[in-house]
This record gives sequence, C-alpha cells and structure tokens, in this order.
Amino acid sequence: MVKGIISDMDGVIYRGKQLVPGAKDFVQRLHDSKTPFLFLTNNAEQTPLDLKLKLASLGIDGLTEGNFITAAMATATFLKNQNQKQHATAYVVGGGGLMSELYNVGFSISESNPDYVVVAKCSTLSYEQLKKAVRFIDHGAKFIGTNPDMIDPVEGGLEPAAGTILAAISAATGKKPYIVGKPNSLMMMLAARKLGAHPEDCVMIGDRMDTDIVGGMEAGMKTILVLSGVTTPELMTEFPYKPDYVFNTVGDIDLANL
Ligand SMILES: [Mg+2]
Repeated sequence: MVKGIISDMDGVIYRGKQLVPGAKDFVQRLHDSKTPFLFLTNNAEQTPLDLKLKLASLGIDGLTEGNFITAAMATATFLKNQNQKQHATAYVVGGGGLMSELYNVGFSISESNPDYVVVAKCSTLSYEQLKKAVRFIDHGAKFIGTNPDMIDPVEGGLEPAAGTILAAISAATGKKPYIVGKPNSLMMMLAARKLGAHPEDCVMIGDRMDTDIVGGMEAGMKTILVLSGVTTPELMTEFPYKPDYVFNTVGDIDLANL
C-alpha cells in the first residue's frame, strides 16, 4: 500500500503551459483515495503559493501550499537540521523565495562573515554579488547550492540556472558546493518526512532518469518514469538503473496496483 506519492511537475503534470493529458484526473484520484502527495521541484524561485496558483491556472484546483516542496524549502530544512547555532547567518545569491524560507527556519541574512553562502538561480545576479560570495567562501563560509540545474528551458530558449552560478563561484574559490536539490536523495527523504511516511512506502514519479528516478531509487522509494517529458524508451535503457514502473503519462497510473 502506497503511503505517499512524490511527483515532479515539469514533464509530468505540465509541459510549458500545457497540462499533460490525464494529469487533472490523476490529481483527482489522489484526492479521492486520500493518498498523501507532494509536488517536488528544483525550482527555488517560486513559492508554494506561486506553484499552487500556477497549477490552478492550468485547471488543477483544490491544492494547498502544503502540497509542494521546493529546493529552497529543502535547503532551509537541511540548514536548520545541520546548524546548532542560535543565530546562524547566510549570504544569499537568489530570490525572495529562498530568503523567506531561510528566515522561516531562523536564519538571518548577513554580509558580515556569514556562516553560509547559499546560492540559487538569481535573475538579477551582479558582479558585486559574485565577488561577495567568493570572498565569504574564501573566508570560511560554507558553500551551499539549492539545485544543480545548469540551464532552465523557458519560452524562447534556455536560461542559465543555479548550476551555472555555482560553477562560476566554484571556479573562483576552488571549492565545491553541497547541493540539496534533485538528484540528491536528501530532497526525496525530506519530502517523505514532510508526508509523515517512510521512503520505502513512497513512490517517486518523474520524467528524468538522472534526477527523479535516481534520486527516488537512492532514497529507497519505488519509482515511476512517465514518458510525457524528456525521456524516451530508448533513452531509458541507456542508464545503469531502471524505474520500477513506466507509464506513458500520469493518467495511466493505477494507484491501487502499485
Ligand atoms: Mg521534470
């Protein structure tokens, strides 16, 4: 019996601004069967409220902010669990969403010898920010990334993402960041904990072998690959690991038979 469903969104629930066929029905079946579920995303810019509104605009209603976990939330939870200090500080290269998650777990944002430099995608990135991040890390701040994605596909082409900024800071400091988001199975385990379920009782659904499926597998979850995103059946076989189940879309998943 599945006690929790954790699902990627892009390529699973929607593609760009299009709902994947059967996705609305799938979410309805999750509600009807009272299966706890979370949508998980490496996006650290959007808040759970933004994501809830995005899905509502595509026709998926009835979700709450509690139905989402973002890389920004997972990073804040990780830092809270790691840190014993009363007043830990972080310098943030990233957006307001990440800062508010760090505030929520008791961090202050500081430019005076911060304990951590936390980096996410930052559409307003400046040379000054890069310089500060490099100097703080050089002075001993711990180097953390929300997610490793180098690029985000958006309308009109590609956009440099968190991984690109992390790579620049790495090049300058010679230090490697610890990255919390997918494919780090830590993010999947935090999602399972948020659902109050053991990872072995959860199913991870995604469209990417090298993030969703490997992360779910390493966290000890069952995995479902859907073919509605970036992976074809031929591409799937090129990986040294495989998902437990493969479906064309989430609409084909029979929750009672997992
Ligand atoms: Mg995806």
